[in-house]
Amino acid sequence: MILTEYSIKNNINNLKVNKANRQNLNRVSYPDDRFVLSFNGYQEALVYAKKSKFKNKLLNKKLCNLNFEEYEGIQRGLKTFEGLSLKQIAFALTDLHSINLITGCKNHCLHCYANAQPFIKQYPFEDLVQICNDIKELKNRLGVSPTYHHSLSYTDCSFDSDALDCHLFDKNGNKHDFVEIAKLMKENLGAAPVFDTNGWKRKDKEKQKIAEEYVEKLLKDNNYKNFYQINISINPFRPEYVRVLKSGYSLDELYQPIRKVGDDFEQEEALLSDDYKKYRDLYTDYVKDVANTLITFKPLLKTKKLQTIIRALDNNIEEMKGFRINDFRETLKHIMQELYLRSFCGLLNKKDLKEFQKILSKYNTRIFIASGRMENFYKHKNPNGFKNIKRIDPEKKLAESNYKRIKTNKKLSAAFMRYLKMISADGRLYLYDNYSIIPTDIKLNLSTKEIKFPFKIPIKDFVITEDMIDLI
Ligand code: SF4
Repeated sequence: MILTEYSIKNNINNLKVNKANRQNLNRVSYPDDRFVLSFNGYQEALVYAKKSKFKNKLLNKKLCNLNFEEYEGIQRGLKTFEGLSLKQIAFALTDLHSINLITGCKNHCLHCYANAQPFIKQYPFEDLVQICNDIKELKNRLGVSPTYHHSLSYTDCSFDSDALDCHLFDKNGNKHDFVEIAKLMKENLGAAPVFDTNGWKRKDKEKQKIAEEYVEKLLKDNNYKNFYQINISINPFRPEYVRVLKSGYSLDELYQPIRKVGDDFEQEEALLSDDYKKYRDLYTDYVKDVANTLITFKPLLKTKKLQTIIRALDNNIEEMKGFRINDFRETLKHIMQELYLRSFCGLLNKKDLKEFQKILSKYNTRIFIASGRMENFYKHKNPNGFKNIKRIDPEKKLAESNYKRIKTNKKLSAAFMRYLKMISADGRLYLYDNYSIIPTDIKLNLSTKEIKFPFKIPIKDFVITEDMIDLI
């Protein structure tokens, strides 16, 4: 019973066939030396899935909870999963952190865990549609969700991009924006992406327009519900902020909320040094830019989805003065002051101010030492005390020992933790734990065949194979 043309000769060697597969697969020889693999289990798996549907629903089962042997073959004909066993599919779709169809970011943050580079690349929209359709069809056949998250239930479409750059093009050149992408992902994957922007400069009129259009679209038809969260990142690691701190002027001294006009002002201004004026403008612009981003997104306050991600170093990292949360509070105060000023012009009401006050009081001091960027920054500031960098991120050591245990024991469960998964635009599956990117031999079938450097941080040299997957 030939059910699907799965692979021709050279793909067969790459296909990992587990015990269940071996029973279900036929290797059929053709006179022209071509081989076709077929799943005998397709019909049986469909019947079994139908029979078990009610029980699985009652027990709230997902693909990762099923006995794969009983369902093997059910994936027949789904292009995305060609050549993969059900166990590999379940593994890829459990704790799926991102499908990286957009890469690159121009924000240059010094703490960037992804080492994002300013070359933005978008991969074909059709690939996302194909993945989503195939997951939907797999769900129909199985009667349970193929995707599942053990903790935070979001799946992004990028690992290293700003939300304002998150769009894709199809082969006809039509643009599909983040709102459309999120709808597609939420409806088919069951997990929504995060809209995360680091803001823009007020003079960047193009970005301002994009942001305003997004706010409008997010509110329309409750599109914001297709996002897990809408975040505005605020931190002291933007290059212009680092330059301000380097100047040595105090932030209070630099912040000038209102520019006076008239002769008196001209005289005062003439007495100031060019150096001071340069940093005053740089810092005041930074504060006003952040306030402007917040105000642009203000209409989304009522959705309760709008949050800020305020990230700075812990206060005990004395050697990084200026970049610790208590130091950064000065800037948060200035941003709030800026919002109050705008309220006098009617741009915000009391309720908005209260909401902003609330979301600006939450912060996070977790900084990942993962990409080399923070390491370089720290080294630059502490040329003689580099080893103290460990204090910034004590968990990095744990990640290294987890990885070593996997390598030694050749099984994933030796790490005593679950990894997140990432799919690069060429379909390869990687494991991720905020530090390490570990390759697997799982490859989804997408239109982009091979990407040489899918990440701007190093990929480990040890490949996780199907027989090492003992924890999904
Ligand atoms: S931290 Fe985010 S916004 Fe900053 S450079 Fe990296 S990807 Fe871009």
